[in-house]
Amino acid sequence: MTSNLSLAARVISEGFLPARSALLQGPRDPVSGPVSPSRIRGMLLGLAIGDALGNTSESLSPEQRESRYGEIRDYLPNSRSAGHRVGLPSDDSQLAFWTLESLLERGGLDPDDLSARFASREIFGLGKSMQQFLRNREQGVASWYHYGAESAGNGALMRIAPLVLLHPQGTSAALWLDVALASIITHRDASSVASCVAFVDLLARLLRLPAPPTSDWIIATFVATVRQVCTDQPYRARSGRFTGREGSFPDYLEFVLGEAARHDWNTREACAAWSSGAYLLETVPSVLWILARHAHDPEEAIVRAVNDTHDNDTVATLVGAAVGALHGKDALPVAWQHGLLGRTTVDDNGRVFRLIEEAVRRDWF
Ligand SMILES: [Mg+2]
Repeated sequence: MTSNLSLAARVISEGFLPARSALLQGPRDPVSGPVSPSRIRGMLLGLAIGDALGNTSESLSPEQRESRYGEIRDYLPNSRSAGHRVGLPSDDSQLAFWTLESLLERGGLDPDDLSARFASREIFGLGKSMQQFLRNREQGVASWYHYGAESAGNGALMRIAPLVLLHPQGTSAALWLDVALASIITHRDASSVASCVAFVDLLARLLRLPAPPTSDWIIATFVATVRQVCTDQPYRARSGRFTGREGSFPDYLEFVLGEAARHDWNTREACAAWSSGAYLLETVPSVLWILARHAHDPEEAIVRAVNDTHDNDTVATLVGAAVGALHGKDALPVAWQHGLLGRTTVDDNGRVFRLIEEAVRRDWF
């Protein structure tokens, strides 16, 4: 089921895949080779840990968060677990692990199945575009690819990481296509498709790198993919120092990340400059700048994501997946691993860990 070419042809011919046709060519510089189980565990655990560390103080500004909690370096007492300091999921890791569950059960990407899973379960902290997707789906009689919101929110990006496991041989046009199709289930937007493809492509590379890359490499690799995939559609910055600035998504990313480099901003300064909410013009530079500065130190990278950004659970979900892929499970602090309950619902303790082990054991070919 991993070959979705005829499905893609239909979605593209009907105009539902907002991307350049160069998407179909795949990466210009593909990578291949085996991935160690520890890196896969690290990627998926990092994702769940980032969400759990962030979601108890989501949507506070870094200044409000700091005055209330100081610097957050562990799980906060959680009202959903009798005030214990444990890691619980929100929408980010719920949707990511239900995606993994669907890939495992269906043996590949089945958009109808994914769409149905997202619609049939209770999601904690549902975003606006996901609500739109659910409404469209309730009203609709059309195919799954009609329901996605036309939104540049980060809701598809936050759940997309498990797609990398479908293509254990490495980066390819087939990987990119599966990611693009999986992304438009909920978000039918050019910057979302490009961000999802670029992030999963980056994960495939980080999973195989023998040592941390240079900061320039992370940004250049991601932006090159975005440039190949994203249309020229203009976007406008909505908050922060660059409010009102308009341009294509890749141009905007290059501009703001260039400013951060020129001023040598730390992560708090940079994320304040371009703002760090759920809009992809904010989420993506935040993730890239945190990785550029801290990818060599997984704990510090996740701590910066949790403390220095506004939509901190999603930024930490993405940063956690990336540093986990690069360093493997053992590089993630033991306290964070032990405190994570591994839920995807209100009470399915350990589900995350079982899905991870299933993903590691599965022969994806
Ligand atoms: Mg969340």
